[in-house]
Amino acid sequence: MQLTTRSKVVVKKQMSFMEKLYLPAILGGMWITIKHFFRKKATIKYPEEQREFAPVYRGMHVLKRDENGAERCTACGLCAVACPAEAITMESAERKPGEEHLYREEKYAKIYEINMLRCIFCGLCEEACPKESIFLTDRIVPSDDLRKDFIYGKDKLVDPIEADKRIDVSKRETKEVLEFKKNKNIGHNQLFEGKKFKSGS
Ligand code: SF4
Ligand code: SF4
Repeated sequence: MQLTTRSKVVVKKQMSFMEKLYLPAILGGMWITIKHFFRKKATIKYPEEQREFAPVYRGMHVLKRDENGAERCTACGLCAVACPAEAITMESAERKPGEEHLYREEKYAKIYEINMLRCIFCGLCEEACPKESIFLTDRIVPSDDLRKDFIYGKDKLVDPIEADKRIDVSKRETKEVLEFKKNKNIGHNQLFEGKKFKSGS
Protein backbone atom coordinates (compact mmCIF):
# COMPACT_ATOMS: atom_id res chain seq x y z
CA MET A 1 0.00 0.00 0.00
CA GLN A 2 1.34 3.44 -0.94
CA LEU A 3 1.25 5.75 2.09
CA THR A 4 2.09 8.98 0.25
CA THR A 5 2.19 10.36 -3.29
CA ARG A 6 5.22 12.52 -2.44
CA SER A 7 7.76 9.71 -1.99
CA LYS A 8 10.87 10.02 -4.14
CA VAL A 9 12.90 7.07 -5.35
CA VAL A 10 16.58 7.77 -4.74
CA VAL A 11 18.84 6.50 -7.50
CA LYS A 12 22.54 6.15 -6.84
CA LYS A 13 23.83 7.45 -10.15
CA GLN A 14 27.43 7.77 -11.15
CA MET A 15 28.94 11.28 -10.84
CA SER A 16 29.75 13.05 -14.10
CA PHE A 17 33.28 14.24 -14.88
CA MET A 18 32.40 17.84 -13.84
CA GLU A 19 30.87 16.64 -10.60
CA LYS A 20 33.98 14.62 -9.82
CA LEU A 21 36.09 17.78 -10.20
CA TYR A 22 34.11 19.42 -7.34
CA LEU A 23 35.42 22.79 -8.55
CA PRO A 24 32.16 24.06 -10.12
CA ALA A 25 30.30 23.21 -6.90
CA ILE A 26 32.93 25.02 -4.79
CA LEU A 27 32.83 28.08 -7.04
CA GLY A 28 29.02 28.03 -6.98
CA GLY A 29 29.08 27.99 -3.18
CA MET A 30 31.59 30.84 -3.06
CA TRP A 31 29.46 32.87 -5.48
CA ILE A 32 26.50 32.54 -3.11
CA THR A 33 28.71 33.67 -0.19
CA ILE A 34 30.10 36.66 -2.12
CA LYS A 35 26.60 37.76 -3.14
CA HIS A 36 25.70 38.06 0.53
CA PHE A 37 28.51 40.60 1.11
CA PHE A 38 26.56 43.14 -0.94
CA ARG A 39 23.12 42.44 0.48
CA LYS A 40 21.52 44.45 3.26
CA LYS A 41 22.30 42.68 6.54
CA ALA A 42 19.37 41.09 8.30
CA THR A 43 21.17 41.35 11.65
CA ILE A 44 21.93 44.45 13.73
CA LYS A 45 24.65 45.15 16.31
CA TYR A 46 22.43 44.88 19.37
CA PRO A 47 22.57 46.44 21.98
CA GLU A 48 24.49 49.33 20.37
CA GLU A 49 21.87 49.41 17.62
CA GLN A 50 18.21 48.86 18.37
CA ARG A 51 15.29 48.24 16.09
CA GLU A 52 12.36 50.60 16.02
CA PHE A 53 9.45 49.06 17.89
CA ALA A 54 5.95 48.80 16.50
CA PRO A 55 3.50 51.06 18.37
CA VAL A 56 1.76 47.96 19.74
CA TYR A 57 4.99 46.51 21.17
CA ARG A 58 4.57 45.43 24.78
CA GLY A 59 7.64 45.06 26.96
CA MET A 60 8.59 45.35 30.61
CA HIS A 61 5.86 46.56 32.95
CA VAL A 62 5.81 49.64 35.12
CA LEU A 63 3.64 50.33 38.17
CA LYS A 64 2.82 54.01 37.92
CA ARG A 65 2.68 56.68 40.56
CA ASP A 66 0.10 59.47 40.48
CA GLU A 67 0.91 63.14 39.94
CA ASN A 68 1.76 63.47 43.67
CA GLY A 69 4.18 60.56 43.60
CA ALA A 70 1.91 58.07 45.40
CA GLU A 71 1.61 54.50 44.09
CA ARG A 72 -1.63 54.05 42.17
CA CYS A 73 -1.91 50.31 42.77
CA THR A 74 -4.49 49.31 45.35
CA ALA A 75 -3.68 45.59 45.33
CA CYS A 76 -7.15 44.71 44.04
CA GLY A 77 -5.73 41.64 42.31
CA LEU A 78 -7.63 42.11 39.03
CA CYS A 79 -4.41 42.03 37.01
CA ALA A 80 -3.46 38.70 38.61
CA VAL A 81 -6.90 37.27 37.86
CA ALA A 82 -6.71 38.45 34.24
CA CYS A 83 -3.20 37.10 33.71
CA PRO A 84 -3.40 33.94 31.59
CA ALA A 85 0.14 32.96 32.51
CA GLU A 86 -0.39 33.27 36.27
CA ALA A 87 2.71 35.43 36.36
CA ILE A 88 1.52 38.00 38.92
CA THR A 89 1.48 37.57 42.67
CA MET A 90 0.94 40.18 45.34
CA GLU A 91 0.37 40.74 49.02
CA SER A 92 -1.68 43.67 50.21
CA ALA A 93 -1.25 45.85 53.27
CA GLU A 94 -3.18 48.68 54.90
CA ARG A 95 -1.91 52.21 54.55
CA LYS A 96 -0.92 53.78 57.86
CA PRO A 97 -1.59 57.40 58.81
CA GLY A 98 1.16 59.55 57.37
CA GLU A 99 1.70 57.29 54.35
CA GLU A 100 -0.77 59.13 52.11
CA HIS A 101 2.12 60.54 50.08
CA LEU A 102 3.33 56.97 49.35
CA TYR A 103 0.10 55.14 48.52
CA ARG A 104 -2.97 56.69 46.89
CA GLU A 105 -5.51 54.24 48.28
CA GLU A 106 -6.04 52.87 51.79
CA LYS A 107 -4.89 49.45 50.59
CA TYR A 108 -1.67 49.01 48.68
CA ALA A 109 0.58 46.25 47.38
CA LYS A 110 3.19 45.45 50.03
CA ILE A 111 4.63 42.84 47.70
CA TYR A 112 4.00 42.85 43.95
CA GLU A 113 5.87 40.40 41.77
CA ILE A 114 5.83 39.46 38.10
CA ASN A 115 7.58 36.34 36.90
CA MET A 116 9.06 37.56 33.62
CA LEU A 117 9.76 34.01 32.48
CA ARG A 118 6.06 33.21 32.68
CA CYS A 119 4.82 36.50 31.24
CA ILE A 120 3.76 36.41 27.59
CA PHE A 121 3.41 40.22 27.39
CA CYS A 122 -0.21 39.97 26.32
CA GLY A 123 -1.19 43.21 28.08
CA LEU A 124 -4.29 41.78 29.77
CA CYS A 125 -3.08 42.99 33.17
CA GLU A 126 -2.97 46.52 31.76
CA GLU A 127 -6.49 46.21 30.38
CA ALA A 128 -7.84 44.81 33.64
CA CYS A 129 -6.37 47.47 35.91
CA PRO A 130 -9.08 49.88 37.12
CA LYS A 131 -6.55 52.28 38.63
CA GLU A 132 -4.40 52.99 35.56
CA SER A 133 -1.55 51.58 37.57
CA ILE A 134 0.12 48.87 35.50
CA PHE A 135 1.37 49.53 31.98
CA LEU A 136 3.56 47.64 29.58
CA THR A 137 6.32 49.79 28.15
CA ASP A 138 8.74 49.52 25.26
CA ARG A 139 11.58 48.53 27.59
CA ILE A 140 13.14 45.12 27.02
CA VAL A 141 13.46 42.71 29.95
CA PRO A 142 17.24 42.26 30.17
CA SER A 143 18.79 38.82 29.98
CA ASP A 144 20.05 37.17 33.16
CA ASP A 145 21.65 33.95 34.35
CA LEU A 146 19.39 32.72 37.13
CA ARG A 147 15.68 32.00 37.00
CA LYS A 148 15.10 33.67 40.38
CA ASP A 149 16.38 36.97 38.97
CA PHE A 150 13.46 37.08 36.54
CA ILE A 151 10.98 37.49 39.36
CA TYR A 152 10.61 41.25 39.35
CA GLY A 153 9.48 42.91 42.55
CA LYS A 154 8.43 46.44 43.32
CA ASP A 155 12.05 47.58 43.29
CA LYS A 156 12.12 46.99 39.53
CA LEU A 157 8.49 47.61 38.66
CA VAL A 158 7.43 50.78 40.47
CA ASP A 159 8.03 54.13 38.79
CA PRO A 160 11.01 56.06 40.22
CA ILE A 161 9.98 58.52 42.93
CA GLU A 162 11.80 61.39 41.17
CA ALA A 163 9.30 63.09 38.85
CA ASP A 164 11.88 63.63 36.09
CA LYS A 165 12.77 59.92 35.99
CA ARG A 166 9.24 58.56 35.62
CA ILE A 167 8.57 56.12 32.79
CA ASP A 168 6.62 57.70 29.96
CA VAL A 169 3.46 55.72 29.19
CA SER A 170 1.68 58.46 27.25
CA LYS A 171 1.66 56.23 24.15
CA ARG A 172 -0.44 53.72 26.07
CA GLU A 173 -2.58 56.23 27.87
CA THR A 174 -4.13 57.91 24.83
CA LYS A 175 -7.83 58.71 24.69
CA GLU A 176 -8.27 55.86 22.17
CA VAL A 177 -6.79 53.40 24.66
CA LEU A 178 -9.01 54.72 27.44
CA GLU A 179 -11.97 54.29 25.08
CA PHE A 180 -10.80 50.75 24.31
CA LYS A 181 -10.72 49.95 28.01
CA LYS A 182 -14.33 51.08 28.30
CA ASN A 183 -15.51 49.43 25.07
CA LYS A 184 -14.08 45.92 24.83
CA ASN A 185 -15.61 45.39 21.37
CA ILE A 186 -12.86 47.46 19.77
CA GLY A 187 -9.98 45.29 18.56
CA HIS A 188 -6.75 46.46 20.19
CA ASN A 189 -4.89 46.70 16.88
CA GLN A 190 -7.74 48.74 15.39
CA LEU A 191 -6.46 51.60 17.54
CA PHE A 192 -3.38 51.79 15.37
CA GLU A 193 -5.05 51.46 11.96
CA GLY A 194 -3.94 54.21 9.64
CA LYS A 195 -0.77 54.68 11.65
CA LYS A 196 2.59 53.31 10.67
CA PHE A 197 2.05 49.83 12.06
CA LYS A 198 -0.14 47.33 10.26
CA SER A 199 -0.90 44.01 11.89
CA GLY A 200 1.50 41.35 10.60
CA SER A 201 4.10 43.82 9.30
S1 SF4 B 1 1.38 40.89 30.19
FE1 SF4 B 1 -0.07 39.15 30.21
S2 SF4 B 1 1.16 37.41 30.86
FE2 SF4 B 1 2.34 39.25 31.39
S3 SF4 B 1 1.80 39.70 33.50
FE3 SF4 B 1 0.40 40.87 32.21
S4 SF4 B 1 -1.41 39.56 31.94
FE4 SF4 B 1 0.27 38.26 32.71
S1 SF4 C 1 -1.94 46.86 39.19
FE1 SF4 C 1 -4.06 47.54 38.97
S2 SF4 C 1 -5.24 45.64 38.71
FE2 SF4 C 1 -3.23 45.07 39.55
S3 SF4 C 1 -3.57 45.01 41.75
FE3 SF4 C 1 -2.79 47.06 41.25
S4 SF4 C 1 -4.63 48.29 40.97
FE4 SF4 C 1 -5.29 46.15 40.88
